[in-house]
Amino acid sequence: MDKGLLIVVSGPSGAGKGTVMNKLIAGGDYALSVSATTRSPREGEQDGINYFFKTREEFEKMIADNEFLEYARFCGNYYGTPLSYVNQKLDEGKNVILEIEVKGAFQVKEKCPEAVLIFLAPPSMKELEERLVGRGTESPEVIAERLARAMEELDLIDDYDYVVINDDVDEAVADIRSIVKAEQRRAARNIGINKKIKGVD
Ligand code: 5GP
Repeated sequence: MDKGLLIVVSGPSGAGKGTVMNKLIAGGDYALSVSATTRSPREGEQDGINYFFKTREEFEKMIADNEFLEYARFCGNYYGTPLSYVNQKLDEGKNVILEIEVKGAFQVKEKCPEAVLIFLAPPSMKELEERLVGRGTESPEVIAERLARAMEELDLIDDYDYVVINDDVDEAVADIRSIVKAEQRRAARNIGINKKIKGVD
């Protein structure tokens, strides 16, 4: 069986990654990795579904035990991608999506150069601020910190493979699906297809 594609989606807090990811995985052909974090759960978030919520000690033990594909600190908390789930799903032939911040994304690219890095950007900073305030899940201090972080992250778009502007959720989802399809059609990802076509496999 062919291995799945590893797709990394980053973008500022409030860019709409969660909504876009939910629509994308609804089709069933993508597996969304569940990260571990030391951040406290937000209202309605469930352990094992949104995140694996860990104490700092538990997280640091996971680091020491090499359980992460990547991990990073973001606004005072640890976030990391558990390696086992990603490998299992890729081996099953599923396309795996990691919704992670920029430092983690570059760690993944370094370890897995075949990964596809997509930056999901808001149409403007003004829109981003309105979304973060409207979401009402963070204090004004946290919102200010996340906006400052967004300004830094936007400067890293050039290091990504693709950029998608989330002006309209359905269009952003369609863009990501097109990117994935094109990546799957790369000749370099289809080594040996000539033998299959010739029937000499
Ligand atoms: P939030 O606290 O809003 O859920 O997430 C904060 C940031 O951490 C977001 O940019 C999100 O993409 C990122 N993030 C979530 N999980 C991971 C992870 O496993 N690794 C890294 N590096 N970043 C993550």
